[in-house]
Amino acid sequence: MSIDFTLSPEVEAIRLRVRDFIATSVKPNEAKLEGLQGRERIKQLFAMRDEAKAAGLWLPHMPKEWGGMGLGHVELAMVQSEAARASFGPWVLNCQAPDEGNMHTLLHWGTDEQKEKYLRPLLEGKVMSCFAMTEPEVAGSDPTLIRTHAYQDGDEWVVNGHKWFISNARRASFAILLARTEESPDLPQAANTGFIVDLPSEGWNRVREVETMHGSTGHSEIVIEDLRIPAANMLGGRGQGHRLGQYRLGPARLAHCMRWIAQAEMALDMMVDRSLNRFSHGSLLAEKQGIQWLIADSAMELYQCKLMVLHAAYKIDKGQDFTSEVSMAKHFVANSLNRIIDRSIQVHGALGYSTDTPLAHMFQQARWSRFADGADEIHQMRIAQRTIAAWKDHGSTRSATGDLPL
Ligand SMILES: Cc1cc2nc3c(=O)[nH]c(=O)nc-3n(C[C@H](O)[C@H](O)[C@H](O)COP(=O)(O)OP(=O)(O)OC[C@H]3O[C@@H](n4cnc5c(N)ncnc54)[C@H](O)[C@@H]3O)c2cc1C
Repeated sequence: MSIDFTLSPEVEAIRLRVRDFIATSVKPNEAKLEGLQGRERIKQLFAMRDEAKAAGLWLPHMPKEWGGMGLGHVELAMVQSEAARASFGPWVLNCQAPDEGNMHTLLHWGTDEQKEKYLRPLLEGKVMSCFAMTEPEVAGSDPTLIRTHAYQDGDEWVVNGHKWFISNARRASFAILLARTEESPDLPQAANTGFIVDLPSEGWNRVREVETMHGSTGHSEIVIEDLRIPAANMLGGRGQGHRLGQYRLGPARLAHCMRWIAQAEMALDMMVDRSLNRFSHGSLLAEKQGIQWLIADSAMELYQCKLMVLHAAYKIDKGQDFTSEVSMAKHFVANSLNRIIDRSIQVHGALGYSTDTPLAHMFQQARWSRFADGADEIHQMRIAQRTIAAWKDHGSTRSATGDLPL
């Protein structure tokens, strides 16, 4: 077996173009965006998207026949982690959550008509979308508990229920919605079905934007009352909602990791830069062992993050089972991200706590990574189950630790 993460000269050229594009066309505009409101802000945002399209840096995660860059997952890891060095980078390249996961889902599960009607405009950047699964009344960690309910009435499905934390709902022109359609399925996982909901629709009531520790930035609470969905808008088959959600989350989780690596690397870059420029008790911070340990721990963790993400991406590209590797990467990268930003804030002192650097904002954003798209403990539960099963099946845990030849 050979694992070689060297990029071909063509892909290396793409990576450098993304890096340059983010540094020269996105980063400088982000500061300008802060001062803009309404139409002016939207105009500026879409102007950056036009530039990305013109530069051939559009939809890195989609196949060429759908207007994308046709990159494999390993190549994508390199591009996503360059893009996420600016907070609007992934959005400008049209590979941001939740649209990116919805694109994969529609491409895999959509009928030809659904692809033309919903996927095509999403890829062209004309519309946005959201994914509606989580409910306030039941644990989002266990989708078999979903209460939002749909029953068939002729050519339509009628839905009632309650969702929250639906990112992007206020800007979306359609939602992928998970609802319970089966009352006594053979397996609890076969109770839910996916639907595409045109937005706005009567019966889909956006009641508030949830205020979070990073502000009110587009996570909506939705009350669904007698919402009618045409039968043709079922996504996948009846009872396939759980599989659809799991399929969506695999690559989407890894894409999150790719973006988090960019943020962790920025935090480490800033930690080192600050330690080389701050003097205390006779030497620079960089010369103090206590600070060197913070830097060393962060460098080692970031190295592990990169290897885990690249290896999981490699397994997806090779068509191998990647479930455990993505789970382990998601857990490890999310926790490393939180630790590395925290250490960087520590080395910056009061400056790190202020909003004069991006660290405070990055820290607020990073916190959700430990429970959204699978809480730490759920990933640990699954990783442990697979490790125990490997021992029972093979008398060795080797296959549960990346199945590497070591
Ligand atoms: C910024 C943000 C954006 C989001 N965007 C979306 C979106 O677009 N669409 C959407 O549908 N949802 C979205 N969510 C919701 C997210 O998917 C859920 O928060 C997540 O699935 C966890 O569900 P929950 O919040 O109900 O937590 P719960 O399931 O109630 O879990 C709470 C905690 O309990 C513990 N726990 C739960 N189960 C177990 C177990 N079996 N063993 C041990 N411990 C356990 C864990 O510590 C977990 O963190 C978003 C959340 C955030 C914060």
